[in-house]
Amino acid sequence: MTQRTALLAMAGVGDLVFTLPAVDALARAGHRVTLVTRPPLAGLARRAVGANDVFVWDKRGVDASPLGTLRAARRLVEASAVHIVLAPHPSVRSGLFAWLTGAPCRIGWGPLGYTTRVDRGPRFIEDVWALAERAGARSEDFAPPRLPRDGWPDSAAGKLAAGTIAILPGANYETKRPPLALLEGLLERLGAMGVPTVLIGGVGEAPHVGALPQRASFGEPLEVVAGLLAQCRAVVGGDTGLVHLARALGVPAVVVWGPTSEARLPDDRGRIDLERVDVPCRPCSPHGPRRCPRVHHACMRRHEADAVVESLQVLGAV
Ligand code: SF4
Repeated sequence: MTQRTALLAMAGVGDLVFTLPAVDALARAGHRVTLVTRPPLAGLARRAVGANDVFVWDKRGVDASPLGTLRAARRLVEASAVHIVLAPHPSVRSGLFAWLTGAPCRIGWGPLGYTTRVDRGPRFIEDVWALAERAGARSEDFAPPRLPRDGWPDSAAGKLAAGTIAILPGANYETKRPPLALLEGLLERLGAMGVPTVLIGGVGEAPHVGALPQRASFGEPLEVVAGLLAQCRAVVGGDTGLVHLARALGVPAVVVWGPTSEARLPDDRGRIDLERVDVPCRPCSPHGPRRCPRVHHACMRRHEADAVVESLQVLGAV
């Protein structure tokens, strides 16, 4: 019997990217996989290798209330009476959603609603993978996240020039954003080298670099952003979902690390992690604090544009 399995990816872009290997492996193990996600991520989720369909749970919008959670669970059951729900999310609401589906097998990180509770591991991706393995995914099918490079919708920014480097100024938390001075220095150096650049980010991230006269895409749908990233020779950004999306598309990355730990990510030869070991307070938070507890924010401010350019040279991107 084909197992009908719902896999939740309800947080950010990076979390969806880290879920991709589990989707693929479950499909290879014969599961019919429904990827459950939020509206902004749905276009991207539809390109997930191995996903049979995508179910949209608008948990921050029309489905935000407990009644909305019940409605969403019922809609999922009507669309596909799932046997298994996998929830790599620690919230009570995800547990409630899983329980409300009535699926006989519910595997998750949270405290309530599951038939099997799994502890989180030390690294992203492996975290989600541990759930998939409990549902029957095979270790030989484990692979890094991947998305197709072609077939994405066009951006209003148009086609990018060959050799473009994407600069990603945003991140959910301010402490994870590369400082403006670093971005300015980087853009100046790349401009002097004749390297084309594009700034890419979410809606709220544009003011951060508002004064910089660059080609830019802010607030476009994620599937459009994926198409832009796929055209780039490399990306530079902080610990942000778009960096992880770029890596899933096979685009090399230089990651400007701040308060979070690069050790949570798997080893990746296509990525250079810039870190400053002379900042003893880092990492200070698993996901980044909203404000630097020590005020100086040296973990980000000590990065230098020359080091980023050198890393791009090591990657063969400039
Ligand atoms: S405490 Fe240290 S690691 Fe944390 S944000 Fe401030 S400078 Fe960065």
